[in-house]
Amino acid sequence: MSLPPTAPDASAAEPAATTAAAIIAADDLVVLAEEDRRYLVRAEAKGGVRKIKGLGIFDPGRLVGYAWGTPIDQGTKTLRTLRPGIADITRGLARKAQIVQPKDTSRILFECDIRAGSRVIEAGIGSGALTSGLAWAVAPMGHVYTYELREDFTEWGQANLVRAGLDHLVTVKTRDIKLGADERDVDAVVLDMPDPWHAVGAAHDALRADGHLCTYNPLVSQLEQSREAMVEHGFQDLRTLELIERPWVVGERGSRPDHNFLGHTAFLTFARKA
Ligand code: SAH
Repeated sequence: MSLPPTAPDASAAEPAATTAAAIIAADDLVVLAEEDRRYLVRAEAKGGVRKIKGLGIFDPGRLVGYAWGTPIDQGTKTLRTLRPGIADITRGLARKAQIVQPKDTSRILFECDIRAGSRVIEAGIGSGALTSGLAWAVAPMGHVYTYELREDFTEWGQANLVRAGLDHLVTVKTRDIKLGADERDVDAVVLDMPDPWHAVGAAHDALRADGHLCTYNPLVSQLEQSREAMVEHGFQDLRTLELIERPWVVGERGSRPDHNFLGHTAFLTFARKA
């Protein structure tokens, strides 16, 4: 007597929808995403009551075992659980000083050719937004050296890097960059500080021949002084640009530019050591 054919097992025919990597594990960094807000949370094996700024009381123990992308209820909100990309991390940072926005960070990485293995000096750390982008790009074997004048920002920025799981790629020094950097032959120096022209000499000393310098200047007067200092120190190939980003509201009945788009942030000036 022959056995009746068994119905094909759907789960055996298709790769399982959830593999180990598709599930959030303890210690994974998770981005909880609302429409326009991001919260960076580390999943915890034990869990407990945590207060997360903007989100309220949340137990990170709830995340363990969740499939990435699955919505999770939090009070009246429904949050998506995202694997953190660098844009999510930047949006989720706790901010103090004005941060460098992704539109500018991404262009800095591109123009300064910052990539895996690069060694980069930066000043100052502020909230660590630009630092995070730099660290992300130089991983896994590159390094970022960041100089920061103020102890409170050193601590604030460093805490953000730890939260983002990027701190092992960054050395933070509470020092005035104008007094010189310890490193030599670095690939790039990026200056986001009020008077970067006073640090162009230090940047020159630290850079390798042909290395990249970038200054981030909110004001025209600052960009002019930065360029003057670059010319004085023999930098070449100077370029200044401003990026305007215009997000759109896309709806079923029609689409239009967002009324609240980000206006001016800063002028980026790039140069190369001769
Ligand atoms: N790029 C940061 C924001 C930096 S705000 C971000 O994206 O989050 C500018 C920072 O430069 C401040 O923290 C300020 O304390 C620091 N700073 C100002 N002058 C400095 C100097 N001479 N050396 C090092 N850091 C300096």
